[in-house]
Amino acid sequence: MQAFTKTAPGVGNMAVGEVPVPTPGPGEALVRIAQSGMCGTEILVHDDLYRGRKRPMPFPLIVGHEASGELVELGPGTEGPKPGTRVGIEALSGCGRCFHCMRGNYNLCPDWHHIGLTRPGALAEFLVVPASSLFPLPEEVSFESAAFLEPLATVVHTLERTKPAPGQPAAIIGPGALGLLHLQILQSAGLCPIVVFGRRGDEKRLELARTLGADAAIVADRKEAQEHAASFTDGVGMGLVIEAAGSPEAVQTALDIVGGKGTMVTLGIVRSTEIDALTVMRKDLTWLGVVASVRRHFAEAIRLIRTGKVRPERLITHRMRLADALSGVSVLRRCEAVKIMFTPGA
Ligand SMILES: [Zn+2]
Ligand SMILES: [Zn+2]
Repeated sequence: MQAFTKTAPGVGNMAVGEVPVPTPGPGEALVRIAQSGMCGTEILVHDDLYRGRKRPMPFPLIVGHEASGELVELGPGTEGPKPGTRVGIEALSGCGRCFHCMRGNYNLCPDWHHIGLTRPGALAEFLVVPASSLFPLPEEVSFESAAFLEPLATVVHTLERTKPAPGQPAAIIGPGALGLLHLQILQSAGLCPIVVFGRRGDEKRLELARTLGADAAIVADRKEAQEHAASFTDGVGMGLVIEAAGSPEAVQTALDIVGGKGTMVTLGIVRSTEIDALTVMRKDLTWLGVVASVRRHFAEAIRLIRTGKVRPERLITHRMRLADALSGVSVLRRCEAVKIMFTPGA
């Protein structure tokens, strides 16, 4: 089968090539991938910037973790849906034994497995995952929208943590897929106005944000973002700020534009930046980190798609052949795309 693989450690070393179709072991399932999205994580893996948890990244490694497909077969002695069932795929699984797993928070498991990072990923024609990672899809949920379940589940997780209120002004920094999924879900939660901030080069993605119904979508540096945030809120500042850009400047901007008693969420992958702790204290802030998701977030994400409250497929800006996956990484890096969707096997 065709697969997009990180062949060795270091910068680059990625290629699309032929690999054997995997065989599911006990407790596992083989899925034929129908739709598979590319994510900023693949840029980090390409650039050798991704740093995992306890479990090292194996090489060669098939990347990709946002996919949907059709169940082909279950491993020996494994219970699960019938072959032929259309499924969404949970990307991570915990050890099942540690403190966090015991409490159902296996997104924090230090020994986690994550497809495309610690085990073979989904930018391939076939994928083997634990049978417990499968979510049968209702008829109304297309393969395309189901390929967004993994990032959408993270967005559901953000809402669970922040408990935003209708009428609360919100800002999203970073008009990528994660940012624009937040836009859709915050709209359906009744927040307003919702302002999306981007950098120079983000113009196309900001245009999509406006099409999706953002009250404003603006190219702004730190100072300009602060002025805009003030003008949208009579100087009070944003009630909720989602940092989904992954740059140190974005974290600083979030801290600038969040208002007193506000909530600020960091989701982008930023290693470190200097934070003015006095501002955190004086604004009486709630500052949250949100990482990945667990099963209940998937179930809710499926409901959001099924009822049309969120339409993630509108974020697809590019469709590519799996053979062109490496050029997909470049397109994503240039911020031209929100979501690149692949149809393996086509
Ligand atoms: Zn992702
Ligand atoms: Zn665990």
